[in-house]
Amino acid sequence: MIDKQLKRLLREIENETRLTAPFTGRPSLDPRVMQAMAEVPRDAFIPDGYRDLAYDNGPLPIGYGQTISQPYIVALMTDFLELSPESTVLEIGTGSGYQAAILSRLAKKVYSIERVEELAKAAESRLKKLGYDNVETRHDNGYKGWQEKAPFDAIIVTAAAEHIPPDLVEQLKPGGRMVIPVGQPRAHQELLLVTKDGDGEIKVRKLLDVAFVPLVNDEYKGSQLF
Ligand code: SAH
Repeated sequence: MIDKQLKRLLREIENETRLTAPFTGRPSLDPRVMQAMAEVPRDAFIPDGYRDLAYDNGPLPIGYGQTISQPYIVALMTDFLELSPESTVLEIGTGSGYQAAILSRLAKKVYSIERVEELAKAAESRLKKLGYDNVETRHDNGYKGWQEKAPFDAIIVTAAAEHIPPDLVEQLKPGGRMVIPVGQPRAHQELLLVTKDGDGEIKVRKLLDVAFVPLVNDEYKGSQLF
């Protein structure tokens, strides 16, 4: 049963990738990314009441007003990180831990930060139970990144920021890549690819219009979004 639903989901991700290629420039995703999407059991990251919908190509509630992202978006963002088995990657917004699990199949080490303590704890024990041993989680405000573990080959932000957080750009290695949704909450947001070249020069490219829950910066009350 799950097998059939999973195959349909993978086909939908491929279709949506093709349809959005005029914007993203990518008509297909790295087969390794698709393999990770096939291997990680999304149903294990979904609250009981919604488990039937685990293999639908849509976001789902995970409590605390947060959501697990749409599988197509997870796959697309992961693809643009261009991870190798040697990569170290930072995720801001652990949520359910699903995106971190996908990253863990493609990178050497994944660091992930979540500001809602209950979600951080639940994701940590879920990832451990499922055997994703190369993921380290932390309960904190991820707006400032994870200085002690920096620099990173790749950074993925899974909540919408009002602007690109400077500390995250700082913590990117030369040659590093960051994928981040930027814009106002409940309004138009743009998924951006931020690259840092060998000389440290930053380039920003728009990939797609998206809708994410807000990145909450607890240390700067002026941008408190709730
Ligand atoms: N990647 C997640 C989905 C993330 S939803 C998954 O695979 O399930 C976005 C998450 O970002 C939410 O859990 C929210 O609590 C968290 N978040 C919002 N602002 C944050 C911040 N400043 N630092 C860390 N996490 C944050």
